[in-house]
Amino acid sequence: MSRRINLAVIPGDGIGQEVVSQGLKVLRAVLPQDVKLETQEYDFGAKRYHATGETLTDADLEQLKAHDAILLGAIGDPSVPSGVLERGFLLKLRFAFDHHVNLRPSKLLPGVGSPLAGRPEIDFVVVREGTEGPYTGNGGTIRKGTPHEVATEVSVNTAFGVERVVRDAFARAQARPRKKITLVHKNNVLAFAGHLWTNVFNEVAKEFPDVTTDYIHVDAATIYLVTDPGRFDVIVTDNLFGDIITDLAAAVSGGIGVAASGNINPSGEFPSMFEPVHGSAPDIAGQGKADPTATVLSVALLLRHLDYEDEAVRIEEAVAADLGERGETTRTTEEIGDALAVRV
Ligand code: ATP
Ligand code: MG
Repeated sequence: MSRRINLAVIPGDGIGQEVVSQGLKVLRAVLPQDVKLETQEYDFGAKRYHATGETLTDADLEQLKAHDAILLGAIGDPSVPSGVLERGFLLKLRFAFDHHVNLRPSKLLPGVGSPLAGRPEIDFVVVREGTEGPYTGNGGTIRKGTPHEVATEVSVNTAFGVERVVRDAFARAQARPRKKITLVHKNNVLAFAGHLWTNVFNEVAKEFPDVTTDYIHVDAATIYLVTDPGRFDVIVTDNLFGDIITDLAAAVSGGIGVAASGNINPSGEFPSMFEPVHGSAPDIAGQGKADPTATVLSVALLLRHLDYEDEAVRIEEAVAADLGERGETTRTTEEIGDALAVRV
């Protein structure tokens, strides 16, 4: 029986198109003959917004739903008011497709520039909750614009939402050689949410007796991510803490050019979306300067999610080998993509 991947491709804005085409090139190169790759491109982003005023309609969501996975370049452009595409596209899609697991691996590969270069022990994965916390839009303002303005931003944490992401993170820890998981929170101060997270974490831990558990306050975690990153294997954390520490994690593990991510719906009810952590980088768009490596590594995450483990590993090994030999040479986006396509 022949296999088939039905992929939605959203190049988006800025360097999105450039890096996504290299990601697709490597994907085509790594897939065995018997796997049929079907791609459908979508034009979401700034251009579509200016032409139609639309960011992501319900009809768009219906179409996207039919795919096995989504590959995204980057969405965002200085010509669009701040927040419009973030809320109208990125957050809308995340909530509509219930992407409650945000996955960001951090592995410092030899040859990669980092403030912590030469620390091969950096190899961890952050599992960030994606649909709750302070991101649900609960809150409000009273006495707006007066000296007595009061603003609340409610962090929503449900037993259901916390448990499913914690369980997913434990399963990921169990599948890794070190089998260690660290809960990052601030349960001494954020007592209500902290209690729920800690309780759920300890309960789920009983189902994974072979996984070593640890807890660290988020402020301490920012120190250890720099001074002792080797202590981390899998980190599970809430939406806001995850947002912050994953940027820090990207910085210590090679930066924006190599940071990959997945927005995952583990049940498979909706397609998961994979994208480089970086944005649309309008400052270098169209110049062939963008590093496609983060997108290529996102393709590896995509393949792993669809159970193409061998192909995912081959991409990761190709990237590691390429980075190891990269040296000081400056290559174009396309040259890096070509080199990776040859290696896989
Ligand atoms: P966004 O709001 O869309 O997240 P941002 O302001 O965070 O955007 P990025 O678009 O991620 O910024 O770019 C930040 C800096 O990193 C820019 O100077 C950009 O040129 C650089 N950069 C981003 N991605 C890449 C890449 N793939 N290769 C090389 N440089 C990049
Ligand atoms: Mg950014």
